[in-house]
Amino acid sequence: ADVALDCKAEKIYYSDFLAVRDSHVPIKKNQITGFIGPSGCGKSTVLKSINRMNDLIRGFRFVGNIHFHGIDIYDSNIDPVSVRRNIGMVFQQPNPFSMSIFENVAFGLRLNRYKGNMQEKVEKALRSAALWKEVKDKLKNNGLSLSGGQQQRLCIARAIATEPRVILMDEPCSALDPIATRQIEELMVELKKQFTVAIVTHNMQQAMRVADQTAFFGVDISKGGRTGYLVEMGP
Ligand code: ADP
Ligand code: ADP
Repeated sequence: ADVALDCKAEKIYYSDFLAVRDSHVPIKKNQITGFIGPSGCGKSTVLKSINRMNDLIRGFRFVGNIHFHGIDIYDSNIDPVSVRRNIGMVFQQPNPFSMSIFENVAFGLRLNRYKGNMQEKVEKALRSAALWKEVKDKLKNNGLSLSGGQQQRLCIARAIATEPRVILMDEPCSALDPIATRQIEELMVELKKQFTVAIVTHNMQQAMRVADQTAFFGVDISKGGRTGYLVEMGP
């Protein structure tokens, strides 16, 4: 019952290329699950399977199932858009939209036709992303005018404003300096109180610092291909 997302990736293909096999990752509720392993082992591929991001990629095929709140998100009756709405995602490169800080955070709420107090919601998300104090006097400024670390926290605010249950982060600190990295790490530890968090990282130290459990991936090159697989789940 403490598993928020039971991710069973039996096989994940890009056209006829087998990128991932035999990877069962139980992502626990209100914990941080780290995905670690060498480049190309399929960490991002598994993460993008979880919110059906990969539906947008030609040739992608997921074989297996992912249970989320008791439903299989790969069931043919499930609308991938509704899955993405419940599972926020943050990428390696901070990618705020070229619009005001306020509108960046309001973006998903507007898409959802949120009718309540937008000001309050935006403030709440910015506070949760540990960015409010730095931006409260310049909410009209363009999101792109912020520093890299601030931009990444803005992207986190944008992802959490609609209050998804789960937040996926794909190498969220790889483009940041050590100080901004530490801020984001501290923020992740705060976020898990409210959300379930999964993070891809190639940084073992980072996984040790923040993750409650870690999925260790490897690459199998024995058959001439390069197929990633789960080696083990560990602390
Ligand atoms: P990691 O995140 O562990 O570095 P990825 O999930 O990005 O690994 O990639 C796993 C494998 O899938 C790699 O061999 C990569 O080249 C391949 N791959 C990733 N994205 C695509 C794509 N859109 N089309 C084809 N192959 C892809
Ligand atoms: P419960 O008290 O049974 O967890 P909730 O209303 O909080 O009831 O949750 C409804 C469903 O959403 C349950 O299936 C629960 O497992 C799931 N859920 C609740 N919180 C989270 C979370 N932070 N991350 C993922 N799934 C969650």
